Amino acid sequence: MKKDYEVIIIGGGPAGLSAGLYTSRARLSSLLIEKMGVGGQIADAERVDNYPGFPEGISGFELGQLMHQQATKYELETLLAEVTGIELQEGRKVVQTTEGNFTAKAVIIASGSERRKLGIPGEEEFTGKGISYCATCDAPFFKEKPVVMVGGGNAAITEALYLTKFASKVTVIHRRDQLRASPILQEKAFSEPKIEFLWNTVIEEIEGENVVQRIRLRNLLTGEKLDLDVSGVFVAIGLKPDTDYLKGVLPLDAAGYIIANDRMETAIPGIFAAGDIRRNSARQAITAAGDGATAAIYAEKFVTE
Ligand SMILES: Cc1cc2nc3c(=O)[nH]c(=O)nc-3n(C[C@H](O)[C@H](O)[C@H](O)COP(=O)(O)OP(=O)(O)OC[C@H]3O[C@@H](n4cnc5c(N)ncnc54)[C@H](O)[C@@H]3O)c2cc1C
Repeated sequence: MKKDYEVIIIGGGPAGLSAGLYTSRARLSSLLIEKMGVGGQIADAERVDNYPGFPEGISGFELGQLMHQQATKYELETLLAEVTGIELQEGRKVVQTTEGNFTAKAVIIASGSERRKLGIPGEEEFTGKGISYCATCDAPFFKEKPVVMVGGGNAAITEALYLTKFASKVTVIHRRDQLRASPILQEKAFSEPKIEFLWNTVIEEIEGENVVQRIRLRNLLTGEKLDLDVSGVFVAIGLKPDTDYLKGVLPLDAAGYIIANDRMETAIPGIFAAGDIRRNSARQAITAAGDGATAAIYAEKFVTE
């Protein structure tokens, strides 16, 4: 494998794969580095109905695989590794990874975002043993078992509805007294007999022996405490940009998102940001793909001029 490229792309979600399609098709030597598996977050979507070109909808996993297939057709190289840092050198960027260092003239950062954690006792211990951040991935493990979904936005309610196909009961736990999810989703959730709601409530602790067995809850208005026996805890309380490895390299906003202009250029010439990781992104597959294409077009100009 080569060590030096014209463009390195960090992240293999819709933004990174679209960027890779454009840079490799422009005949720039391009390396895409992905730490988990190509597709990014969209691979977790059971069905995607709003990506143009698929009038019948498509599974998120399949969409990710097709994007990868199309990008690699034009000789985009992909590497499974985690990027741990970027160092700036005269005329080149050094991308540090768990598989060694690689250099490039331009870097497109498309490392997206990840689910926020609850930050409570038991969360780390039981992750993968009853706690999940992806209902579409893990719901089948909870057939005929009681589960909870923490959150009140679109992701939480979409996933709670999906969980009803498997679980015996889904309790939505929300810290407020109303949902933020879209009216259509709310209507569906309120009319679903398997879904119950616990309002103004937070989980304080997750307990069990080897696997999740119960959660300790507190009502934020009354202070009342309650224990609930459950087998699964699903969490969808928002996203966090994957930018820890960029601290000190690039200016980030207060929430950790990368600040970029409408050409996807960051404060550092030759470093571009695309997709969910960018401040003010609409956080959709189509907008991420659009960002990736824009970043690639301006990265090509940067490399060739
Ligand atoms: C369950 C679910 C359902 C969704 N449904 C829809 C939908 O129906 N329609 C829609 O338009 N959008 C949907 N979305 C949102 C959509 O998936 C995202 O907006 C989109 O995937 C963002 O693309 P991205 O490429 O910017 O980032 P991501 O998809 O987050 O991809 C980033 C990639 O970078 C990798 N990465 C992160 N850090 C590093 C590192 N240090 N080194 C190497 N690789 C790294 C990650 O592993 C990841 O693969 C959904 C999201 C979820 C979670």
